[in-house]
Amino acid sequence: MGIIRISGEKAFPAAEKIFRPARPKNWQGESHRLHYGHVVDFSTGKVIDEVLLTVMKSPYTYTRENVVEINCHGGIVPLRETMRLVLAAGARLADPGEFTKRAFINGRIDLTQAESVIDIIRSKTEASLKVALSQLEGGLSARITFLQDNILGILAQLEAAIDFPEDDVDIESHREVQKKALEIVKELDLLIDAAVKGKIYREGIRTVITGRPNVGKSSLLNALLGRERAIVTCIPGTTRDVIEETINIRGIPLVLADTAGLRETSDLVEKIGVEKTREFLAGADLMLFVVDAHEGITLEDREILQTLPGEKTILIINKTDLAERTGVIREENIPSVEISALKGEGIELLEDKIEEIITGGGIVTPESIIISNVRHEEILIRARGHMAEFCSSLEENIPLDLMSIDIRNSWEALGEITGSTVTENLLDRIFSDFCIGK
Ligand code: GDP
Repeated sequence: MGIIRISGEKAFPAAEKIFRPARPKNWQGESHRLHYGHVVDFSTGKVIDEVLLTVMKSPYTYTRENVVEINCHGGIVPLRETMRLVLAAGARLADPGEFTKRAFINGRIDLTQAESVIDIIRSKTEASLKVALSQLEGGLSARITFLQDNILGILAQLEAAIDFPEDDVDIESHREVQKKALEIVKELDLLIDAAVKGKIYREGIRTVITGRPNVGKSSLLNALLGRERAIVTCIPGTTRDVIEETINIRGIPLVLADTAGLRETSDLVEKIGVEKTREFLAGADLMLFVVDAHEGITLEDREILQTLPGEKTILIINKTDLAERTGVIREENIPSVEISALKGEGIELLEDKIEEIITGGGIVTPESIIISNVRHEEILIRARGHMAEFCSSLEENIPLDLMSIDIRNSWEALGEITGSTVTENLLDRIFSDFCIGK
C-alpha cells in the first residue's frame, strides 16, 4: 500500500502514460473522482499494479495545480516499479515539503499555515496538535495582519508630517501616534509571551528526576510512564545511564530523564551517568527532586537541593507508605508533594503541581492563539525592538524620516511571519524541514 502524488502542469499527461482505466473513458474529464484501473509499463505493456487513481483539477487542490494521486494496492515492489514509471513518464521526485511550498507560492495558504503542517506532523500530544491546527486555520496570520495594518496607519501619519512639514505636527497627533505605538508594543509583548508558552507544546518540558541513589527515582519514572522502562533495583547507583522518555501530562509533553543521581563517584560507568546528569541539568526546565520520607532529608539531600533552582524544582517526598510522619521534612520555599511511587499514590497531585508550575497557575488554552514556532518568536522580538526604538525616539527630538525607518522595519519583520515579505532563501530553509511527500 502506498500513495504516489503527482502535481503540476504535466501531472495528467504523466499519469495518462501509465494508467489504464478498467472501463475505457476520459478519466481526466471530471475533477475529484476516483478511477479504478491498472498501472501498465508503457514500454513492455506489462501490468504492474491494480490501483485507484484520484483526479483533482486545479485550482481546488492542495497545491492549486493539477494533482493526480495513485493509490497502489500491491506491496513495496509494485509501488517502487510504479514510482519508476511515473518518473520515466516525465515527473521528477519532489523536494521535502515541496507540495506545501507550492501551495504557499500559489497563494493557497500563507507561511504560518504552511509551517503548521510541519507541526501537525510532529505534534507530540493532542494539545500540541490543537495548537498547530488553530495555526493552520489562520488565527496567527489574522493577528499579525491586523498589527501590520495598525503599523501602516502610524506610518501614514508620519509620512503626512514629513510631506507637509509646514503644518506643524500638533501635540495632539503626536500623542495619538505615541499611544498607538505603545499599544502595538503591548500586543507584541502578549504574542511573545504566547510564543514562550507555545514552545512548551512544541518542544516539551525538559524534566530531570534527581536525588540520592535509592530514593525511588526510577520507580517514580515508571509510575509516571505507567509501565516498566527503567531498571528498578535496590543496589545504589545502578541506574547508569540517562533514560529519556516523552510523556503526556495534561496535554503538556514532558521530556523526562531519569538520572544516575548527583552523588560523586569513582565508578567509571557511574561517572558517565553523573556527567550526563549535569549536562541535562543545565538545560532543564523542571526538576523533580526525590527524597526518602522514611530517611528524612539528609545532609547530602540538602547540599543537592541548594544547587537546584528553587523556582523550577518540586520536592518529592517518596515512600510515604514507609513513614508515619512526613510533615517535618517539608522544605520552605519550594513546592512539595508526598507520594508513594511503589503504590502509585500521590501521582495525580504531582501532576497537578507540574501543570501549575509550567502554566504559571494560568491555564494555557490551546484554543487561544499560541505561537509554537521559534522562527516566529525571533521575529516578534525583532519587531518589538523596532517599535520600542520608535517609541523612545518619539520622546527625543529625532527627525521624522529617521523614525519612519523603525516603523518600516517593524512592519517588514512581521511580514516574514505570514510570508508577505520573505526571501527565497528563507523559504528554502523553512521547507527543508519537511518530509518528502508533504
Ligand atoms: P533510584 O535509585 O532512586 O532510582 O531508586 P529505585 O526506583 O531503584 O528504588 C529503590 C528501592 O526503593 C527499590 O527497592 C524500590 O522498590 C523502592 N521504592 C521506590 N519507591 C518506593 C515507595 O514509594 N515505597 C516503598 N516502600 N519502596 C519504594
